[in-house]
Amino acid sequence: MNPVRHLIFVLGDQLTLTLSSLEGADPDRDLILMCEVMEEATYVPHHKLKIALIFSAMRHFAEELRGKGFKVHYTKLDDPQNSGSFSGELLRATAAALPERIVATEASEWRVLQSMQGWQSSLTQPVEIRVDTRFICSKAEFRDWADNRRSLTMEYFYRDMRRKTGLLMQGEEPEGGRWNFDADNRKPAKPDLFRPKHGVVRPDSITLEVLDLVERVFAGNMGSTKNFVFAVTRADAESAARAFIRDFLPNFGETQDAMLKDEPFLNHAMLSFYINIGLLDPLAVCQAAERAYLQGHAPLNGVEGFIRQIIGWREYIRGIYWLKMPGYQHSNVFAAHRPLAGFFWDGDTAMACLSTAITQTITHAYAHHIHRLMVIGNFSMLAGLDPHAVHEWYLSVYADAFEWVELPNVVGMSQFADGGFMASKPYAASGAYIDRMSDYCQDCRYDVSKKTGEDACPLNALYWDFLDRNAEHLSKNHRLAQIYASWHRMDDGKKRSYRDSAARFLQKLDAGEYV
Ligand SMILES: Cc1cc2nc3c(=O)[nH]c(=O)nc-3n(C[C@H](O)[C@H](O)[C@H](O)COP(=O)(O)OP(=O)(O)OC[C@H]3O[C@@H](n4cnc5c(N)ncnc54)[C@H](O)[C@@H]3O)c2cc1C
Ligand code: SF4
Repeated sequence: MNPVRHLIFVLGDQLTLTLSSLEGADPDRDLILMCEVMEEATYVPHHKLKIALIFSAMRHFAEELRGKGFKVHYTKLDDPQNSGSFSGELLRATAAALPERIVATEASEWRVLQSMQGWQSSLTQPVEIRVDTRFICSKAEFRDWADNRRSLTMEYFYRDMRRKTGLLMQGEEPEGGRWNFDADNRKPAKPDLFRPKHGVVRPDSITLEVLDLVERVFAGNMGSTKNFVFAVTRADAESAARAFIRDFLPNFGETQDAMLKDEPFLNHAMLSFYINIGLLDPLAVCQAAERAYLQGHAPLNGVEGFIRQIIGWREYIRGIYWLKMPGYQHSNVFAAHRPLAGFFWDGDTAMACLSTAITQTITHAYAHHIHRLMVIGNFSMLAGLDPHAVHEWYLSVYADAFEWVELPNVVGMSQFADGGFMASKPYAASGAYIDRMSDYCQDCRYDVSKKTGEDACPLNALYWDFLDRNAEHLSKNHRLAQIYASWHRMDDGKKRSYRDSAARFLQKLDAGEYV
């Protein structure tokens, strides 16, 4: 074999042919290293479907690279020689191949990038870590944007990204005369037998081998590999994106915030997994959505909403992560320390909204945005759960969860644990919101119309108790002025009964009783 020029280390969420570390790669002289390691598979107890998705997509990507003539050194998790860590595998492959240089694209998570930056100290060959070019806004560009701003409102960042990409722009003006059509969205939805169904990909022999491995090694983790339906190749992910644009994008906007107990996916894209591991290019997906609008296939409100989620929220979240790490993971402005209730792991609660959202999470390693934000996240914040424990749960259970995107969404957006660095007010809601946006309350053991007492929806008392308990941090927030004014107008008896109801519920939660 020829001497190896570059040993190119490709991580599990870097499954992109145009990855910066593969730029200029030469099949005749370079060797690609990919590895499944215990350290990554166990640093939180990942959902079985998440581990299976990543390992299977990695194995398929290795085949794609081999198909292009590259040599790939691939370590499977159960390889007896597997050292169990990225650094260990790099040292092993370097000792065997004696490359002139190590090349990698920067890791997407702070913890892994730290370890990558330490590689040079144990190697004599130069280690070249390249910037990840798969984002529309670089880390440096986001830092410049954030510098000297009093508040980092996503909406303004998003407008810059619209200008930068030219998506839905008419010269300098936004298509349709408005930047944001959210006011036309946020409608409840009705069950509809004729709503199209999201596609299912049948596991091939590579995936079946991974599913068997995951069931053996991670038997105690959440979920079942029987429910594996993910795309694991670029071709299948692209076909899922086309199906979304054809079948769901036309109604995406209207039902974006709606929840139905028998329709966990509604018109959501189900594409985050593929975008996050590199099987889909976020900009290309947005351009395809824009084409659907220009061809009259999908309305502006939905297409704008979808594009905003990707070039706005997704990029903004990443910018915040790199701006605020490593301290951000310990944010806890409300000093909330309650551990997660047992029902987070089995969905066994009388609260129909939480039971549905968590059970769907267990089944699919997926829940749509409003389940994550307004059901599970809202309850966690109102009940004073420890935001770090909440973060670790989200990181474990969703197939699309990588810390750079999960952590700011959980700690900043859903728990307000950063004291409002990201969100201008907490996403806090009582039962009325869930009743308006879903069909959950009609089947719930609790009564959403009752404010206090044993049968009342627990969120009603928890909502006021949360605001009361955290008034020191929230009462000066002008976006909450009206809500605090309502609280202050209540007589003492009413306030006491909210506090008592919340305290009784939290006592039961702490005692591990069925709630
Ligand atoms: C508490 C909480 C935790 C979350 N954790 C994750 C996570 O671990 N990984 C993850 O990818 N997303 C996360 N999100 C964002 C969002 O909920 C998911 O991206 C979305 O539900 C994925 O499903 P979908 O592809 O059907 O998305 P759709 O609702 O159809 O949206 C389309 C695309 O927009 C992007 N997107 C939408 N909202 C966001 C957002 N807030 N941040 C980043 N990208 C966004 C995704 O790429 C998504 O595929 C979280 C949101 C909250 C509130
Ligand atoms: S009544 Fe309350 S707890 Fe029950 S589903 Fe409705 S919002 Fe959830």
